[in-house]
Amino acid sequence: MHAERGQHNMTMPVLPSFDLKRNYGRVAPEIREAVARVLESQHFILGPEVEALEAETAAYLGIANTVGCASGSDALLLAMMALGVGPGDEVITTPFSFFATASCITRLGARPVFADVEINSGNVSAESVRSKITPATRVILPVHLFGQMASVEEIAGMTKGKAIAIVEDCAQAFGASRTIDDQVKRAGSLGTIGCYSFFPTKNLGAYGDAGLVATGDESLAKRLRSLRVHGSGVQYFHDEVGLNSRLDAVQAAILRVRLRHLEEWNEERRLAAERYELLFAEKGLAEFVSAPVETDGNRHIYHQYVVRCSRRDELQRHMQEQGIVTRVYYPLSLHLQPCFSFLGYGEGECPVAEKLTSEVLALPMFPEILPEEQERVADAMKDFYDTRS
Ligand SMILES: *Cc1c(COP(=O)(O)O)cnc(C)c1O
Repeated sequence: MHAERGQHNMTMPVLPSFDLKRNYGRVAPEIREAVARVLESQHFILGPEVEALEAETAAYLGIANTVGCASGSDALLLAMMALGVGPGDEVITTPFSFFATASCITRLGARPVFADVEINSGNVSAESVRSKITPATRVILPVHLFGQMASVEEIAGMTKGKAIAIVEDCAQAFGASRTIDDQVKRAGSLGTIGCYSFFPTKNLGAYGDAGLVATGDESLAKRLRSLRVHGSGVQYFHDEVGLNSRLDAVQAAILRVRLRHLEEWNEERRLAAERYELLFAEKGLAEFVSAPVETDGNRHIYHQYVVRCSRRDELQRHMQEQGIVTRVYYPLSLHLQPCFSFLGYGEGECPVAEKLTSEVLALPMFPEILPEEQERVADAMKDFYDTRS
């Protein structure tokens, strides 16, 4: 990661934005055993480890069917393919997300329609979604940004009686939940299909690429299973043209170990988030920095800890000089990406998302971050606003 090689000249060690090595240290013996088991079996693609992971994630998520695949990007693409999205269809989504949220739509010849987001959570605004629904709307694709769920139930209310599916992009929110009518619902369990990424830096990460699709609908599950193996139900007979998007057994075995620890790690992230907020108050930073807001009914799992701040770029440079790595998710809204210029969007069409792109900063966040490291982050921020204003 290029940003990690900062030009800071302090004697302090670099504080990274995430630290996978510390996490690995906590589970290394279990991981080695799991990988050895796969090597002994010599069964590398799909098979028993993948089936076991599918069963365990289904139980954890409270969703009947889960289908392992090669990445989160593929999970989204498979979901769109299973729903038959194609030319002439519109998919309403958020412009404030990772690229794959929109590319799964354009890749199939359908049109992304960008709704604006909420300033507090960065999640897509249900009201804005409502205003974008047309007869061509086939799917609504909310993203559970940074580890906090969007209000899927509100969006689901708008699609009642219409042939509109909901695909949840849960790539940043494995294990996040939302309490609706006294029931706790995990990310991915409210819509038609939930899509997950196990990219190594995600809060449930593999040690390579991996992803998962989840659905309560049996016939969609069957189609997803076929689509991930070239659209084949019986080997060498192809009902449709699918993808090669299988999950490999080594990653599945690793994920099974890591899933057992996920609740604990998500809880540690939540504690770290609480500590950041206390530190901001203690150091009088509230005037310059807004901590992320956990909106009503949500259990945010802080995949990223993203603040809004004034003079973001200067602050980020200052932090870098202090050896603290921060990141910007995302510096350019999807509706303004050059590759999507053919859609005809211009500046000012998603004003909240555009505002966020200039204000957001992700501070170091990982389950093992130490209180003194967080204090160092807050001190560096205080130093910046005290001396450079
Ligand atoms: C990471 C991510 C993806 C893509 O997942 P990959 O496994 O990297 O392909 C999709 N959507 C969002 C919101 C993500 O953060």
